[in-house]
Amino acid sequence: MARLFAYIVHQEGVADDSAAELVSAAARIDAGQPPVAVVTGWGAELDAVCDSLRDVYKEVWKVAHAALAYPNAELVRQALVRVLPHDCILLVPHAHFGVDLSPGLSIKLDSAYVPDVVDIEGVAGASLKLVRQEFGGQVSAHVRCDISAGAVLNIRPGAYPPAAGAPAGGQVIDKSAGIGELTSRRRYIETIAAETGDVDITRQAVLVSIGRGIGEKDNVAIAEELAEAMGAAVSCSRPVVDAKWLEKSRQVGSSGQTVKPKVYLACGISGSFQHLAGLKGNPYIVAINKNPNAPIFRVADVGIVDDILELLPELTARIREEKSK
Ligand SMILES: Cc1cc2nc3c(=O)[nH]c(=O)nc-3n(C[C@H](O)[C@H](O)[C@H](O)COP(=O)(O)OP(=O)(O)OC[C@H]3O[C@@H](n4cnc5c(N)ncnc54)[C@H](O)[C@@H]3O)c2cc1C
Repeated sequence: MARLFAYIVHQEGVADDSAAELVSAAARIDAGQPPVAVVTGWGAELDAVCDSLRDVYKEVWKVAHAALAYPNAELVRQALVRVLPHDCILLVPHAHFGVDLSPGLSIKLDSAYVPDVVDIEGVAGASLKLVRQEFGGQVSAHVRCDISAGAVLNIRPGAYPPAAGAPAGGQVIDKSAGIGELTSRRRYIETIAAETGDVDITRQAVLVSIGRGIGEKDNVAIAEELAEAMGAAVSCSRPVVDAKWLEKSRQVGSSGQTVKPKVYLACGISGSFQHLAGLKGNPYIVAINKNPNAPIFRVADVGIVDDILELLPELTARIREEKSK
């Protein structure tokens, strides 16, 4: 079996939640071989990330270079090609940076590439059996990927739980020596923080999140009342913002905010990959949708098939009743 690696995405010295999820994903390929974390970056932030990963990974490869201080997939690709064994299997989160990095990297490594993997079914000879979703989660494609020359796999965030009982005290190995010069036609200019708006949904423990299923702007009040009764805030999917029913600062997803609530009430949200990409920290998801086949039910801890326009006011009334006792 080829060596397994996990590419770690990080920001401001903190590893993304996907770091621990990739350990679980790797175990589906080879349970007997813990993956090696590979982290690119520079300075104290890189050191902090590598150190934090020692609780999750037995081996952490640190790839330090001043040119890697800011995210630039072109430079990271050059560095990884010089550091990784070319027949390895590299797991990369299927999020902005991973999708920018991975296809070109697989070409340079001359290995296979599979994006948006939601399940790894196991190894069959020289092939890896994978499941990926297409058409916004409506179709599951079962794929056989030839891994004889290695592979780069984009694993969808949230597809696997964070590794439990992972090894502590892993070893950080500095692999920076052989990187050499890195050049890019892209230039980092600045990082622009997303607008937080009147309510910062990224800091809420409980979110009542509404999707297109809320129907019209006047119905948003139903969710606001429930959120108020629960001590929560209202967030939403992109169509709600596109329809101007809520501000952009309330949007959860790949082109919106990344949230880390403890509880996420998904109301009339189908569960697209772009929406779920904004959900981090393994929240407890309660999904309410009138379509029993909605993809959101695949990731929900509790699924309720019902009409939100009827159920949400009922919930609000029950909570108020309980509180008044
Ligand atoms: C580049 C790109 C970036 C994107 N970024 C984001 C992003 O950041 N965030 C995001 O959310 N989306 C994003 N999208 C859009 C995404 O692909 C989906 O279209 C979107 O998430 C769907 O939103 P939704 O679930 O609210 O609507 P729909 O997919 O239309 O789902 C509505 C759901 O409501 C249910 N429903 C309808 N009426 C009721 C009712 N009365 N009671 C209960 N259930 C009901 C339906 O059964 C359905 O499942 C992006 C798309 C692209 C291409």
